[in-house]
Amino acid sequence: MKIVSVRPHILKAALSQPFAYSRAWYDTRMAMLVEIATDEGLTGWGECYGPATMTGPVVAALAPRLIGQDPLCTDRIWRETYAALRDHGQKGLLIEALSGIDIALWDIKGKHFGVPCHRLLGGGVRGRVQAYATGLYRRQSGDPMKYLVEEAVGYVAEGFSAVKLKVGFGIEEDARLTQAVREAIGPGIGLMVDANHAYDATAAIRLGRLIEPFDIGWFEEPVPPEDIAGHLAVKAAIGIPLAGGECEFTRYGFRELLATRALDIIQPDTCAAGGLSECKKIADMAEAHTIRYNPHVWGTGVALAASLQLLAALQPHTPPSLVPLEPMLEFDRTEHPIRQAILAEPIEHEKGFVRIPDGPGLGIAIDQGALARFTVQ
Ligand code: CA
Repeated sequence: MKIVSVRPHILKAALSQPFAYSRAWYDTRMAMLVEIATDEGLTGWGECYGPATMTGPVVAALAPRLIGQDPLCTDRIWRETYAALRDHGQKGLLIEALSGIDIALWDIKGKHFGVPCHRLLGGGVRGRVQAYATGLYRRQSGDPMKYLVEEAVGYVAEGFSAVKLKVGFGIEEDARLTQAVREAIGPGIGLMVDANHAYDATAAIRLGRLIEPFDIGWFEEPVPPEDIAGHLAVKAAIGIPLAGGECEFTRYGFRELLATRALDIIQPDTCAAGGLSECKKIADMAEAHTIRYNPHVWGTGVALAASLQLLAALQPHTPPSLVPLEPMLEFDRTEHPIRQAILAEPIEHEKGFVRIPDGPGLGIAIDQGALARFTVQ
């Protein structure tokens, strides 16, 4: 079997109302899907995290290297592509592009063997995964004290047993809102906070101390990803586990985070950190360091399906025991017109759990009508 074409698809959709995290407003959602076709008629789909207008051209530029290769040789293709461009792209756009390509190759591999990717990644450890609700962003109007509390209570009513709140909007306000959300959802629900690295270590420690009494599951990206010493300072000063890694790439990047124990929970994005091939290696490295792995997920149904395939094969966080602590799916609940539309069958949660797709490859089919509708010409 040989690869005959590699096509990037840049997609875009306007939002009904903008929303913000600590560093920017969104008024559109974009996506970058990778479609790889073979001479045997199999087609694989992948997705790249990151700026679609930039990862698209990188995927297109990599296409000539891939055409004619055996799509089943995922590790070899990964390694040769990385090695060829190592001097120019150890992190960032190149690895994001390579991630989408790798996921599409895994989709082909699963379809070729007639099994879901997780079977080829070592076998399914679980048939469904607990999801936490990612939402609680800022809106342009209304009182966050009111709408964030209502939104959080809504997730609990839907069956989610954990929710993640965006912080990084000023320490005092963050602390006030964290307290309000905790009081509204009650003590039995997981509550995590995410600053998207809007703070330095001094500010993050101050916020951490203020919200420590509210039983915070993790403090995500308290400080910029490059600041390993800053992470260690925050970790030493507060009693909340630190999470991060959506801005880190490959086994080489995560090696530093794991060896320094800068994070308690690593969150590689399957569509950014190197695809299924690389993220399985990073997960094995995390297990060797007994550091927890919960994938970052922010994309369409293709990203969701790829993340679920990896999640199915991840070992529990803890060493083997009767009460294992299981990895969770990050389930983005913000508006994303493309997310489910792109799938022939949507990936939804049921009382906070999401079933692992068990069809061949990623276990999804692409809705061609939606693909055409959202494609940027
Ligand atoms: Ca995040």
